[in-house]
Amino acid sequence: MSTPAAFAASPADAPNPHYPHLFAPLDLGFTRLRNRVLMGSIHTGLEDRASDFPKLAAYFAERAAGGVGLIVTGGFSPNLVGWLKPFGGKLSWPWEVRPHQFVTQAVHDHGSKICLQLLHAGRYGYHPFTVAPSKLKAPINPFTPRQLSARGVERQITAYADAARRAREAGYDGVEVMGSEGYFINEFTAPRTNKRNDAWGGTPEKRMRFAVEIVRRVREACGPDFIIIYRLSLLDLVEDGNQWDEIVAQAKAIEAAGATIINSGIGWHEARIPTIVTSVPRAAFVDVTAKLKPHVTVPLVATNRINMPEIAERILADGIADMVSLARPLLADAEWANKARDGRPQAINTCIACNQACLDHVFENKRASCLLNPRACAETELNYTKTYRAKRIAVVGAGPAGLACATVAAERGHRVTLFEAAGEIGGQFNYAKKIPGKEEFHETIRYFTHKLEETGVEVRLSTVATPENLAGFDEVVLATGILPRRVDFPGASHAKVVSYLDVLSGRVTVGASAAVIGAGGIGFDVAQYLVHEGESSTLDPARWMAEWGVDPSFESRGSLVKPRPEPPAREVWLLQRTPGKPGARLGKTSGWVHRAALKAKQVRMLGGVEYLGVDEDGLRILIEGIEQVLPVDHIVVCAGQEPRRDLHAELLAAGRGARLIGGADVAAELDAKRAIDQGSRLAAQL
Ligand code: FAD
Ligand code: NAP
Ligand code: SF4
Repeated sequence: MSTPAAFAASPADAPNPHYPHLFAPLDLGFTRLRNRVLMGSIHTGLEDRASDFPKLAAYFAERAAGGVGLIVTGGFSPNLVGWLKPFGGKLSWPWEVRPHQFVTQAVHDHGSKICLQLLHAGRYGYHPFTVAPSKLKAPINPFTPRQLSARGVERQITAYADAARRAREAGYDGVEVMGSEGYFINEFTAPRTNKRNDAWGGTPEKRMRFAVEIVRRVREACGPDFIIIYRLSLLDLVEDGNQWDEIVAQAKAIEAAGATIINSGIGWHEARIPTIVTSVPRAAFVDVTAKLKPHVTVPLVATNRINMPEIAERILADGIADMVSLARPLLADAEWANKARDGRPQAINTCIACNQACLDHVFENKRASCLLNPRACAETELNYTKTYRAKRIAVVGAGPAGLACATVAAERGHRVTLFEAAGEIGGQFNYAKKIPGKEEFHETIRYFTHKLEETGVEVRLSTVATPENLAGFDEVVLATGILPRRVDFPGASHAKVVSYLDVLSGRVTVGASAAVIGAGGIGFDVAQYLVHEGESSTLDPARWMAEWGVDPSFESRGSLVKPRPEPPAREVWLLQRTPGKPGARLGKTSGWVHRAALKAKQVRMLGGVEYLGVDEDGLRILIEGIEQVLPVDHIVVCAGQEPRRDLHAELLAAGRGARLIGGADVAAELDAKRAIDQGSRLAAQL
């Protein structure tokens, strides 16, 4: 059975003057979506306990009120063996239905539609009950799955159909069947993980039968007026993944089995090619969606690194896809769609694809949020309510902490003056944005520039705050940031020894070889800066694909080809004193990308290093008891940071108090996530 293929905008709808394709309604025959913005599935951690559903409802309600056309929830397993983790979100019992009604009601009240994602984790489940088509352990999971019998396979299909029926009972407009990213269904379709020789494996047709049966049975269980999105893996990006002709055959069979919409799935979780981090070019993978477009008649969704309306509009206007999926960008800004609809893209708080507060949190078993928007998933707890008593507030420092504090306080009705010693706002983000692959950090500065103006903050650039010009304020908030830590081995003041600020500000031009001292986030970024020359490949998808080994024709199995990294601009060593692999403390979901990128540029990463000194010959180090000289032109110090509190000391000496946020408060382990969170939370209380 197939669903109606007509999905054009009704002629009665006047096109949106700013993004006509993005805001054209989508008629699915039995229901209509108000626009082409699909909020893609993202696990938040609020799915796993019924007691968190009111919070989940508030989170989705804000996105629905913000104008999204269709929302897809985080993944819910159709049964226990499909759990993502022990006691993860599941929809297999009648009593699990009711809490979902909070969510569906809240979304419908704001005019959006919502689908529940059915996600069976298969061998990616982090628990001992996992099942799979074949008994093969995933390289990213310690648990080996049990191979399903033929009857066991049938039971899984029934579980999908039952869960979809329950989703309908709960008020969902449909379900998304997760068939990509290397999860259970994808394991059936790919020869890499399906070694069966029965009705469910052995030939491409038998490998895809499981996916097709699930869609057919879900349609049968839920009737014709129920959205079924199927997330199809268009790019597996692993060896022995699917081949293009197999993917096209799957798309056609899934459409014929009753899918309403096909969503693009890009890359297995075990793939060693990044698919969503900030260094991935915007909309990097839409060409593969375009390649599938002529083969299907149901609406097709483009996905991955689509974060601004211009790019979303282009994808739709070029006929690449019928909808765009955004997940993280809607965590960063719940009002993304309304701002685009109203022609205010400059007001969008653009997701910088850092993963620091969303996916990294999920992998650490913490509730997801957003580095830029601490209210994400905390909508019932953190509110920027109007103040009844407007105060005069001085905020010193226009880095992330000061910007967040100033704008939230002003939004609440306070009269805020922001002092910044530099000639521009942004603080250390002005260095971060210079790192190849971190171009998105420009967007945060653009957003705050707009937000300061919108909220009426008085900005005093090129003004060093002093106790004198801070007189007369009701509150003084110091967001003065950090000072780079100095090193103190022999030769530390040699001309070869420079700070990362010297390098990134352009004060020092680094020679043909360099040693980077300190392998934290900044050390890795500086090494990346030093090995690159010319335009960043993040701005050139074709070069980026070649560097990482993605087949540009998408024809080879798994779409993999030999990576062709560009040669490094200089010889670089990256060093740390702690024994072991440098980069172990980088983000869970992005650290491996930083390490792989530097390895491809032949950066030598050494742990367990003792610094003996610097002289004309270079940097002398001791490693495993053996002394070596690294014959480098420069030694770039990225050895962490200390709080910058000179002004605080002066205020204290004058008998005046001030509140400290961001690096000025605690510099150790400081990142923009903590800076923005702290600034926003303080402003919410002032
Ligand atoms: P800062 O950003 O340091 O801002 C302090 C501001 O105060 C400065 O603009 C300074 O000029 C001003 N100031 C100081 N004294 C005065 C005064 N007396 N009067 C007026 N103004 C004053 N973090 C992440 O989370 N993710 C990343 O990917 C990331 N990448 C980075 C890459 C690089 C290369 C660098 C350098 C940093 C990166 N960071 C990253 C760290 C992040 O930028 C900092 O954690 C964050 O900027 C700290 O914010 P802050 O507001 O506390 O301080
Ligand atoms: P960091 O992560 O604390 O790393 C500092 C490095 O310097 C460590 O590798 C440390 O390693 C070394 N070090 C410390 N004291 C030293 C000393 N006295 N002499 C020599 N080496 C010393 O700090 P950072 O790299 O400056 O980063 C600052 C913050 O920005 C971090 O919290 C980070 O999360 C954030 N950031 C994040 C990203 C990101 O991509 N998420 C990117 C950039 C920055 P040893 O002690 O082992 O030598
Ligand atoms: Fe985007 Fe980073 Fe926010 Fe996640 S934490 S939504 S990646 S800006």
